[in-house]
Amino acid sequence: MSKSTKELLTQIEDFLKYQQELNVPVFVSENISTQKAKKLNTDFFEFFLKNIDEDFVKAKSLQELDEMINKCQKCPLGKTRTKFVFGVGNPSADIVFVGEAPGADEDAQGEPFVGRAGKLLTETLKKIGLQREEVYICNILKCRPPNNRDPLPSEVEKCEPYLLKQLSLIKPKIIVALGRIAGNTLLRKNETLTNLRKNIYNYYEIPLFVTFHPAAILRNMGWKTTFEEDLIK
Ligand code: URA
Repeated sequence: MSKSTKELLTQIEDFLKYQQELNVPVFVSENISTQKAKKLNTDFFEFFLKNIDEDFVKAKSLQELDEMINKCQKCPLGKTRTKFVFGVGNPSADIVFVGEAPGADEDAQGEPFVGRAGKLLTETLKKIGLQREEVYICNILKCRPPNNRDPLPSEVEKCEPYLLKQLSLIKPKIIVALGRIAGNTLLRKNETLTNLRKNIYNYYEIPLFVTFHPAAILRNMGWKTTFEEDLIK
């Protein structure tokens, strides 16, 4: 690398650090028109998905994708699940909420965020003027880990391509990761939620924001207003 390239990279790094300190969402270019950004997203997903030699990458709709993958047995969770939890909501939503994995209620009903935490999410969305049906809600893992343990890297490796395919079909303008585990898993980080909430990240060229898991709000209602403020943001 030439000296001038190195200097330039150092300058860019310093600039980004400075922006980060100011809490500016550094990885999001405000200049990209929605159309162009959508095109970019598609290209990035296509780039990734074309390396996967499986039929599901050819799905033309969310329903078709669901039908193609909901008998999945790629990891041991396929044996222990009651229902495969694909995702629900608007197939062309601007916002996609992503949790870590289904819990007991979701496993029983086959729908994400339907337990107490899910009800709180639905209520909070309503409070800020969004209906649950307007957004899209899903998880990184489509099957419940026993006793709600954290997703294992081997499970994420098998399941995340399904999420990427979902996102490539929906083409959202923003992804909201619900909770530290979902945020760190998607971003390959190991940060506190406090740190994760400071920035807007880039997940396959889609802006990604991390906020509280609604179950954490149920444990500490003191965070409810901050959670609402995050969602308004
Ligand atoms: N917690 C999650 O992360 N996802 C759900 O669907 C329910 C609870």
